[in-house]
Amino acid sequence: MDAYTPCPCGSGKKIKFCCGAEVIPEVEKLDRMLDGEQRRAALEHIARLPAKLREKPSIWAKKIQTLLATGDTEAYDSAAREMLAAYPDNPIALACVAPLEVQADRVREGVAMLQRAIESIQEEAPGFGIVLITGGVLTTANALLAAGHVWAARAHLRIVDLWMESEDNPAAQSLISMDRDPSLPLVWKDDSGHLYCATDAPYKAEFDAAASLSELGKFQVALDRFEALLAQHPKEAALWRAVAIERACLADDAAAAEAFQKLAALDGVPLDEAVEYELHAIALRLSADDLTTDAVDLLGATVAVNDFDALLPRLLSDKRLIRLRVDLSSLAQEDRPPPRDAFRLLDRPALDAAAVEADGGASVRREDVPCVLGELFLFGRETDRDARIEMEVRRDELDKALSILAEIGGDALGGITDERVLQQIGQTQRTLMWRWHWPPAVATDAYERLSREEFRYRLLEKWPQMTGRGTEGKTYGEAARDADPRMRRLVLAAILDLESNHRETEDASVFNELRTNLGLPALNDLEPFRVDLDHISLLRLSRLPAQLMPDEQLLMAFNLAASVRAVAALSRLGEAIVERSSIDADRKIRVLLSLARATSSITQLFDCLRRGRELDVARGKSPAVWLLEELAASLSRPDKARPVDALIERIMAHRQEPGVAQQLMRILTAFGVIDPRAMYDMPSRDAGISVGGVELKAQAPAFSGEAVGAGAPAEEKKSGLWLPGMD
Ligand SMILES: [Zn+2]
Repeated sequence: MDAYTPCPCGSGKKIKFCCGAEVIPEVEKLDRMLDGEQRRAALEHIARLPAKLREKPSIWAKKIQTLLATGDTEAYDSAAREMLAAYPDNPIALACVAPLEVQADRVREGVAMLQRAIESIQEEAPGFGIVLITGGVLTTANALLAAGHVWAARAHLRIVDLWMESEDNPAAQSLISMDRDPSLPLVWKDDSGHLYCATDAPYKAEFDAAASLSELGKFQVALDRFEALLAQHPKEAALWRAVAIERACLADDAAAAEAFQKLAALDGVPLDEAVEYELHAIALRLSADDLTTDAVDLLGATVAVNDFDALLPRLLSDKRLIRLRVDLSSLAQEDRPPPRDAFRLLDRPALDAAAVEADGGASVRREDVPCVLGELFLFGRETDRDARIEMEVRRDELDKALSILAEIGGDALGGITDERVLQQIGQTQRTLMWRWHWPPAVATDAYERLSREEFRYRLLEKWPQMTGRGTEGKTYGEAARDADPRMRRLVLAAILDLESNHRETEDASVFNELRTNLGLPALNDLEPFRVDLDHISLLRLSRLPAQLMPDEQLLMAFNLAASVRAVAALSRLGEAIVERSSIDADRKIRVLLSLARATSSITQLFDCLRRGRELDVARGKSPAVWLLEELAASLSRPDKARPVDALIERIMAHRQEPGVAQQLMRILTAFGVIDPRAMYDMPSRDAGISVGGVELKAQAPAFSGEAVGAGAPAEEKKSGLWLPGMD
């Protein structure tokens, strides 16, 4: 460190012209103490320094850095705030206080502080010794995420990723795990690559200059420039889009939503694009709490029991109650005795297991399959409490549950004595998701057929009757026929949202059926000339004309879809890749494995595993990897039609191959510890993933061999395929 080193206070100036050369020996001494983890000694040393030195911003920064390392958040917070009071423009003070502001619900203020810190950075990454600023941006990103500002959080994570040298930095990891999270709606992942304008736009040079500032995280400066350009060219879609994006990066979600809405209504914007913008507006309005979701409560309700001894046999003999096979003692709360029994309450009698077994469920009709209303727990009399039933049930199904219980229990049951809200369920979830109760003998194809029928019924019949988001109290069905084009865009945006997050690839055409039913235009495949993978909206990936795309573009698109778990797109693109004779077996195998892991359809899962195995066998390779995958999938979703014993035998034939015996043991142990009777239920639809592979996915390091295209690094190809349970 010398007089011409950038000052450790973060000002960007050289030490000599900032804090002064006299801080150099002190800073070096403090750095040595910090390296040696002598934090208390460092703090004592700072306290003993003469005030003139102690109050230099670079010594303040060292104090904050030391307090951060001690984990004493209170002392850290107050030191950061004191430093900011003394040096209101110091970037380190600003970056350290910014996340505190966001956490204290002063989101815009915190983000604005951070912008001032980022603006002070002259180069691409903060200079030597300014780890505190990077840390401040990262903490702010996490605080933004916690506050529901997903777009802004991701934008801040990208700044950290840009600054940090290691590829597996925490920001990059957060971004990747968000992208891979199937429960995060695709619209939230669709937030990069949209800052562009036409090459012949008169403002192209200024646009690009502003866009590169935005890439460095200088969102406010970029926004000011884009807004100035917009004032001169008020009808330009590229400028409205840029303004919407910068506002969202700054966590000004309501203003961003407004810009996206303006953009959607602009002349010349194609309808499919307008609908995507409208969906962004909806997502941002939801995070700005500007739009309320009409959620329903999940209740914990208590019903009095008048006569425990009379009630129990009635509960046990009714086919609408299924006894839960659980260890009751594990359900004891605090020092209270556990429930005496636990049941699942169905809305109609359970299917006859013997009848289902006879034909695997082929003759079962959708309307016959019972839905689970909730779980109920029967408690006996305790010293200070009467006998009672405690149950978990949705508010809109409470009356139904109570009337069934009254029917079963008669005078042995009293009335409801207490209810409390456990959590809330959104209206879309309420309408489109359900829990079925099945006897174990149902075959996969019957289950999948009925699931598709039920989903069709719910989507086509029930969903249009739901009150729309932002549709001024109109149902989706009414809004679709409204004269106002915005109302129709809102319905189309809601359908796009459902479609882009739907995980059952076989249902693809049902969404266009819904559009047509509602008198709205169907969404068609993109024209090949409109395919631009650099700027494509993720919401459009499933409309890529897979058959017409050149090999490399197809593989690129597949990788993109895989990285954000766009299941419908993955399936279409993957099928096209597997069918092409011009693409080699190696890539096809990776594609099939990715597809098998991503799909929620059991049929498709086993189909992918079979085709992958055949490809490997055809080129003289061992099928063991595929057989192991198949075993894990079969065990996670037992089906009589798919006997496991034969599969294990086939795997045993390969037990001499490296890793095979160990993997087999791991799978068998993992599933063997589960009591087979616990598999009684089909995986429930409301788990998000309706069919097998749930356990498989939980173990999978998710698309470890992600890159399918030519760009895959050589060593990654060598590492071979992922084996179940290999983390
Ligand atoms: Zn300084």
